[in-house]
Amino acid sequence: MSSPELKNFRRIVIKVGSSLLIDSAKGEVRASWLAALAADIARLHADGRDVLVVSSGSIALGRSKLKLPRGALKLEESQAAAAVGQIALARIWSEVLGAHDIGAGQILVTLQDTEERRRYLNARSTIAKLLEWRAVPVINENDTVATNEIRYGDNDRLAARVATMASADLLVLLSDIDGLYTAPPGANPDATLIPVVESVTAEIEAMAGAAESELSRGGMYTKIEAAKIATTAGTHMLIASGKIEHPLQAIADGGRCTWFLSPANPVTARKRWIAGSLEPKGTLTIDAGAVAALRAGKSLLPAGVIRVDGAFARGDAVVVRGPDTHEIGRGLVAYDADHAEQIKGHSSPEVMRILGITGRAEMIHRDDLVIGAAPG
Ligand code: GLU
Repeated sequence: MSSPELKNFRRIVIKVGSSLLIDSAKGEVRASWLAALAADIARLHADGRDVLVVSSGSIALGRSKLKLPRGALKLEESQAAAAVGQIALARIWSEVLGAHDIGAGQILVTLQDTEERRRYLNARSTIAKLLEWRAVPVINENDTVATNEIRYGDNDRLAARVATMASADLLVLLSDIDGLYTAPPGANPDATLIPVVESVTAEIEAMAGAAESELSRGGMYTKIEAAKIATTAGTHMLIASGKIEHPLQAIADGGRCTWFLSPANPVTARKRWIAGSLEPKGTLTIDAGAVAALRAGKSLLPAGVIRVDGAFARGDAVVVRGPDTHEIGRGLVAYDADHAEQIKGHSSPEVMRILGITGRAEMIHRDDLVIGAAPG
């Protein structure tokens, strides 16, 4: 199968590793390289693409700012180094993207933010809002609070989770290697680059080896893990070298890289997850007007809900039924059951007054809703 082209993707997550961002000998950010990458990002952005960045570098930058000696850091040392480095990292991204008149929005996530559904929905809607405002979310793990048990530790898998959370259709891992080789290329001169991986088989996993550089935690192993997460959720992934200037432009021009193809599409995959893998925790019964609106692709508003059953929490899956109790679809509900009960049948301004907070306008957002086929 031939490789896809960069221009065909609408929402792209770009993961930048520490070893690309930081010159380990000087302990400084590679400013001109980063400016060139920002120019590539600006180009995609100007082309109407949604771009998200997952940037490593907090620990490495903190380390150099604090002039810490070489060698492994203890957990509390890397947490403290990250606290210093992350401020600097955010500033750098804000500057390089700002030079193209693009706002950068920092998001620091922990494992729970991507695994626990309620928090997942929060992070997802923040990302959606930033993209709607045409800002570029710049994401890293919150290394300062993440302890060993609750951290990703590598931004490859984190980036894959972010890509699926944002329903991105492409994840680009910029690395110090230009793709996946049949064997670790340093040790094996006959190793050849694999341009397209159609599915991550055991054979592909075996090729990963354990390439780890001094600054980054992720070797090929975590990249293959990332490929599994991404491609299962409908996101294509590619590994390309970030050692050259304008690495995204190089990919667009057909440069060397490895594509990992997903058989699914991210929106369909997410909807399948909502419809099939989640145990519904309750039921919303809606009026005929809301049924028609949902079938026309709209969100479910509190005003259309006539009955609330079950003990669900915000972010849980619920079944949506029409006035005749026929199942219309399933979705992730934006309110807890008791709040849903209070606001059912009410217009949006009333919802604000009843709850005394500015909640979400929708009971179920259309992106979180899967509608079944109409009867008859
Ligand atoms: N989150 C870590 C940092 O910013 C990087 C993890 C990685 O290198 O993958 O320093």
